[in-house]
Amino acid sequence: MPEKKNTNEKGLAKASSKALAKTAPKPKRPRRRSRGSQGRKKKATATLRIIPLGGLDAIGKNMTAFECNGDIILIDAGLMFPDDEHTGVDLILPDYTYILENADRLRGIVITHGHEDHTGALPYLLKDIDRSIPILGTKLTLGLIEGKLEEHRLSKQPKLVEVHRGGSTKLGCFELEFFTVNHSIPGAMGVFMHTPAGNVLHTGDFKLDETPIDGELTDFAALARFAAQGVDLLMSDSTNATSRQFTKSEAEVGVTLRSVIGAAKQRVVVAAFSSHIHRVQQICDAAQLAGRKVAVTGRSMLTNTRIARDLGYLNVPDDLIIDAYDVGNYPPEKTVVLCTGSQGEPLSALARMSVGEHKTIDIERGDTVIISATPVPGNEKSVTRIVNQLSKVGADVWDKNRALVHVSGHAGAEELKLVLSLVKPRHFLPVHGEATHLRAHARLAEAVGVDANNIFILDNGDSLVMSDGVVKRGEGVESGIVYVDGSSVGDIGANVLRDRQSMSNEGAASVAVVIDSKRGKLVSDPVITMRGIPGFDNDDFIVEARDKVAKVVRESLDNHKPDANRIKKQERDALSSFIWKRAHRRPIIMPIVIEI
Ligand SMILES: [Zn+2]
Ligand SMILES: [Zn+2]
Repeated sequence: MPEKKNTNEKGLAKASSKALAKTAPKPKRPRRRSRGSQGRKKKATATLRIIPLGGLDAIGKNMTAFECNGDIILIDAGLMFPDDEHTGVDLILPDYTYILENADRLRGIVITHGHEDHTGALPYLLKDIDRSIPILGTKLTLGLIEGKLEEHRLSKQPKLVEVHRGGSTKLGCFELEFFTVNHSIPGAMGVFMHTPAGNVLHTGDFKLDETPIDGELTDFAALARFAAQGVDLLMSDSTNATSRQFTKSEAEVGVTLRSVIGAAKQRVVVAAFSSHIHRVQQICDAAQLAGRKVAVTGRSMLTNTRIARDLGYLNVPDDLIIDAYDVGNYPPEKTVVLCTGSQGEPLSALARMSVGEHKTIDIERGDTVIISATPVPGNEKSVTRIVNQLSKVGADVWDKNRALVHVSGHAGAEELKLVLSLVKPRHFLPVHGEATHLRAHARLAEAVGVDANNIFILDNGDSLVMSDGVVKRGEGVESGIVYVDGSSVGDIGANVLRDRQSMSNEGAASVAVVIDSKRGKLVSDPVITMRGIPGFDNDDFIVEARDKVAKVVRESLDNHKPDANRIKKQERDALSSFIWKRAHRRPIIMPIVIEI
């Protein structure tokens, strides 16, 4: 098992990588013969450090730092959306302290595509680093980033540099070649990196759709060319490594959409990812074919369709699109509503429509609703809730369990094996996945012949060190997750989340006393407020609690000099044990002492 081997090696590898970094000894093994090896031989002392800061514990917050000869570049800067465990948290970012500490050496940020798990940390990162550091991406990627940065009202515009797939650029000592990959958003790319220490191929998110909507296939020829030059390390998308299938083509979704929309008797509502421009294109095409107009609703759907149309990625005639406010002016059988909410987000357009709270559109009995997406792990419950609500209303709901109204944007196991076989990497680092996906991908690599000793399963913050094309484990850096709650970034830690969970599970109570500290007396009865505790609205319960606390505080004041901290603790303990005895709850208790 590759992971076992790696775990065992960890201590040793750490020590040797330290030596590598400081003294850069010659590699023990001779270099494999390859066209790219000659240039590197002259600079055999160079080391490349690869530090994934996010993306190895979940499908989200992808960010990897590459460091060579004092230059650092980042590939991707993404976020993750919280689930039920993260009470009140809006977003989760990778901990990029290492980048902030070394910001003077950051030469550029390459963004592989416009999904938020690759772009979403940028507005936060850019608040803390020099805005003149270039951000590289394709046209649509940069367009979507610009939209996000505007929402964050960054005072000084960052330097967005458009790159082309098939093109190359230099950032510090990194020579980067970009190549087309097919994914669930247009303009996606992978990166082939030449460094003085060796070559790295980063696939970005991809699948091998043979019949893509825009004709942009994953660039096999480029992959073969990189393989010929020698790929010392391959970093590849693991999202669907556990899926045995070859991921179906996006074009097949179009067939289903045309059939469902064509057969619908009343209004059709389609919820999709707003960044899935090809899906949006197919929905618009199917609507047009059925003689229906398309009304777009939901903030991100409006923004992203506007950007995609402006940049030429979405081709729809102007008269196809109508304003959501005008939907009522058309017969239901002549409209398709394209909306957000495919993830069950409670404030999304679909969620509002399902409970009759949308400003302009109601869903009625007999309407057709297509959920053209799959729930991201953690969102299943919310999506089910909305589907149930829509079913109650009498809508005819189509989701991926019923028909092919969605396909994944990520390669399945067979595609991953194909890429591994084509690229023939010397070392392999599975990325973009949960623990299970990374390990499944590692097994695929081993199955196609990558040496098990050269396959690395890392955690965020671990590192690999490459020298003359040989990769070993390196020293880790500070890593973890950062919670964003409203405008506060990083102020919330595990303690705050624990308190929030306690409050939601057990309730909360406050107890306040006023003491005359000179005379050592309680001035009046304690004031107790409780929320979310069974029986808290019963006056007798409150009076009894108040008397218990008053007794404890009075006894304390009779026997000791007044001490606010001690009294706070006694208040809390007295109320806590009373509530436990009566209600079997352990609420958060906020004790207050006012001294006069
Ligand atoms: Zn993606
Ligand atoms: Zn992704």
